Amino acid sequence: MNLRDGEIIATMLEDRGLSISDTLSEADIIIVNTCAVRERAVERALGRIKQLAGIKASRPGVIIAVGGCIAQTESDRILREAPFVDIVFGTRKITNLPDMIEKILTNCTERVLDIGEGDVYQEELVGYRFSPISAFISVMRGCNRFCSYCIVPYARGREVYRPEGDILKEAIVLTERGYKEITLIGQNVNAWREGKRGFGNLLERVADETGVFFLRFITSHPANLTDEIIEQFSVNKSLAPSIHLPLQAGSDRILKRMKRGYTIDYYKGLIDRLRKVCPHITITTDIMVGFPGEEEEDFELTLRAVEEIGFDGAYTFKYSPRVLTDASRMPEQVPEEVRLERLRRLIEKVQEVGLERNKMRVGTLCKALIEGNAKRGGLKGRLGSNQVIVLAGDAKVGDIVEVRVKEASYWTLKGEIVKGS
Ligand code: SAH
Ligand code: SF4
Repeated sequence: MNLRDGEIIATMLEDRGLSISDTLSEADIIIVNTCAVRERAVERALGRIKQLAGIKASRPGVIIAVGGCIAQTESDRILREAPFVDIVFGTRKITNLPDMIEKILTNCTERVLDIGEGDVYQEELVGYRFSPISAFISVMRGCNRFCSYCIVPYARGREVYRPEGDILKEAIVLTERGYKEITLIGQNVNAWREGKRGFGNLLERVADETGVFFLRFITSHPANLTDEIIEQFSVNKSLAPSIHLPLQAGSDRILKRMKRGYTIDYYKGLIDRLRKVCPHITITTDIMVGFPGEEEEDFELTLRAVEEIGFDGAYTFKYSPRVLTDASRMPEQVPEEVRLERLRRLIEKVQEVGLERNKMRVGTLCKALIEGNAKRGGLKGRLGSNQVIVLAGDAKVGDIVEVRVKEASYWTLKGEIVKGS
């Protein structure tokens, strides 16, 4: 979602005659888009911002702007630790950024701090994109769920759904320009609705109007994954057979304290339904260890869930207390060494299970979208399962080829092209 915001910012500034610079040393305006989901992300972002002090000292005319979730939730910390920053803009102020820059350039003001309410959507069509074949379309922003550990609802505000007409228009223009993959994005993407129409209907409309090769969406919350959406995996020709469905924990006691709004049995029921309508679907997840009050038995339930559900992959996180959240005020914080040790054991389990599942793909034939060259030779392709495959053979970026999977590790598959597009 931050990548997409970066593209929107680039588009707005290109419209005003600016161009993107490849290096910091050439840039007249430096924009830092920040993430606040874990403390480590905040520290890294602040570290990067502080490194810009040298550029500002040698070229005082450079404008430095900081946006994103840290700007929204901890603007005072940015101004304290990096007082040379010229603009701090909140997550609902992205569309105002060009005007803020103009104000500074014309000497109307020395510094802009604006983290108030504002419009989150304007007409966002194609504009600047990082990739020539694969595009994100933002369909909703914000989150109403307030999981007890999460800063997102504070940083991004309440849910706002983008009009269906705008989403479809953007999807049509993108596919007409040759985009092969569209990912609909939102913090709680399945919550999208317009009148009586929900997200399942949107998936249907995007596929019907564009016929795009790979249609995906991220991120789903289990409580918002309706039967209509699940059904799409059997009827929608564009929808790729993969879903990212964050579980967070395998213990009902911890899920309750996290305010996730589902039990492990409910989650497993969703997985059964998904696999029933789409037997080869790839299921990935997010899991957090060391949530306040998590005991060894709770953690073992998480390990067991990973094994029983058979995830193809997982992003694993160590709980990080966040300002403003309920969990940060819970007294039963788990010691850092316990959190680290559980994270290590979880990663081991996730990789063991994921590798087993990947090995089952060896020998299969599937379609891949060529994304570019692989780092260590060969081509890099992406499968419908959303996995990366390193390929031997000849093809160009954007081609859709038939491939045979020959080798599997947890992270990547290797294979060969058997037929071009
Ligand atoms: N909307 C998505 C998640 C967005 S945040 C959902 O509901 O699943 C991405 C992931 O970061 C989360 O799934 C969670 O695993 C992790 N995360 C969020 N807050 C965190 C925190 N305080 N500490 C550690 N990990 C966190
Ligand atoms: Fe955060 Fe996701 Fe929960 Fe929303 S649903 S509060 S973004 S973890």
